[in-house]
Amino acid sequence: MFLTGLRCTVCARSYASEPGRYVCDRCGDVGTLDAVYDYAAIGKVLTQASLAADPERSMWRYRPLLPIDSATPVSQLGVGGTPLAEAERLAHRWGVGQLWIKDEGRQPTASLKDRASAVALARAAQEGAETVTTASTGNAAAALAGLAAGTGQNAVIFVPETAPEAKVAQLLAYGAFVILVEGTYDDAFRMCQETVGRFGWYNRNTGINPYVGEGKKTVALEIAEQMRWEAPDAIFVSVGDGSIIGGVHKGFRDALELGWIDRMPRIYGVQAAGSSYLAEAWLKGEDVLTKPPVSADTAADSISADLPRDRVKAMAAVVDTGGGWVVVDDEAILSMIPTVSADSGVFPEPAAAAAFAGLARAADGPQDGVPEVGASDRVVVISSGSGLKDIRGVMRGVDRIGAVPLPTRPGPDGLDPTEISARMERWIENLRKQT
Ligand SMILES: *Cc1c(COP(=O)(O)O)cnc(C)c1O
Ligand SMILES: [Zn+2]
Repeated sequence: MFLTGLRCTVCARSYASEPGRYVCDRCGDVGTLDAVYDYAAIGKVLTQASLAADPERSMWRYRPLLPIDSATPVSQLGVGGTPLAEAERLAHRWGVGQLWIKDEGRQPTASLKDRASAVALARAAQEGAETVTTASTGNAAAALAGLAAGTGQNAVIFVPETAPEAKVAQLLAYGAFVILVEGTYDDAFRMCQETVGRFGWYNRNTGINPYVGEGKKTVALEIAEQMRWEAPDAIFVSVGDGSIIGGVHKGFRDALELGWIDRMPRIYGVQAAGSSYLAEAWLKGEDVLTKPPVSADTAADSISADLPRDRVKAMAAVVDTGGGWVVVDDEAILSMIPTVSADSGVFPEPAAAAAFAGLARAADGPQDGVPEVGASDRVVVISSGSGLKDIRGVMRGVDRIGAVPLPTRPGPDGLDPTEISARMERWIENLRKQT
C-alpha cells in the first residue's frame, strides 16, 4: 500500500491511517481528512503503459492509488469501468464543442456511490470490522448494502423515510439492517453518528470517513484514461454533500501529479435551488466553516442536504480549478430527464439530470460569475445515477414535456393509419422543441 497518512483539509495537521481514525481532533467533524500517498513510488508500479496492458476493467485497476492493501479482499461485482459516451446531439443543442457522458447508472447498484462503498467495505475488512454503517439519501446505502451482500459483510443503514421506493427496495432485498428515520437525511446522519460508536461499527458516513472520496476519485481517473489522458476543459458534477466533486478533484490531481495529464479541467458544481448551500456560499463569499445550514427541499433527493458534509473539499474543487457553482430549479431538473434520455440514450435520475441542467445554464452565457462553457470546450457530464432509481421523479419529468402514450383497445381492425400518422407527427414535433 502506498498510503502514507491522512491530512486535515482545514488545518493541515497530519495523522496516521489507523483503525478508528476518522476526522481531525482539533477541527472536529468539519475537519475531513485527505489521504496522502507516496506518488514517486506509485509512479514506479502504475504507469500509462501498465494501465493500457491491464485487462482489469473495474476500479481496482487503480489499486496502488487506493488506501487498500494488495491482500485485502474487495468487491468482485465489477464496480467502475462505466462507459464514457459521446453525446453529439446534446452538444449541438447546447452549443458546446464536444460532450461526453460518464454513465454511472451502469454500476452494480446503479449509482456512482458504488465506488465509495467498495472502498469503505475493503477498509472495514482491512481494519477487522464486521459491520459497516452509513446514513444516506438512498444511493450510498444501496451501494453499501449491495456490495456488502457480495462480500458477505454486514450493513446497517439509516435512511430518511422519504427516500424513493426503489432505493429502499434495494436495501431490503440486499438484506441490510434498515433503520427508516422519520425526518431528513440530516436527521438520519445525526442518528447514525450518535449510534455508531456504541456498537463499534465501521463508519462509512460521507464527510467523516476519509476514504470514500478515494473511491469516488476513480471516476476521474477513468475519464482521463478514456479520453487518452487529455483532460476535458470542463466537467459538470451534481452536488449534495460535496463528496463526489471532491473525489473528482482528487482523481484529476492524482493524474496530474503522476504526469498522466498536463492540466486540470474546470470543475463545475451543480446544486438544486432548494439545496444550494455551496453555491450560495460561493456567490456571497461566505466561509463554509461558519455558514449555518440551509433547509433543503428538492425533488432531486440525492442532492438534498441541509449542511454539505464534505463542504471544504467541495469548495476547493471549484475554486482551485477556476470552475463555478450553478443553481438549477426542480422544474429544469425534472424536464431534463426526458431531454437527456431522448437525445443520448442515457437515463438519469433527478440528481443526475441536475448536472445536465447545470451545463445547459452555463452554456447559455455568463451569469452569477460562472465561467461560460462554449463552442471550443470539450465537456464531460457525470450522470451519477440511473433513472430506474426514482420512477416517480422520471414520470414527473415526462409529464412536464407532455409525453403521453397512445391508448389503444386491442381489436380486429388494428390502428387507424391516419390517426397514427397524425400522432407521430406531433410526437416528432414535441421531441424537437424540447430544450
Ligand atoms: C450522492 C449523489 C449525488 C451527490 O453526491 P455528493 O457527494 O453528496 O455531493 C449526486 N447524484 C447522485 C445520483 C447521488 O447518488
Ligand atoms: Zn484540522
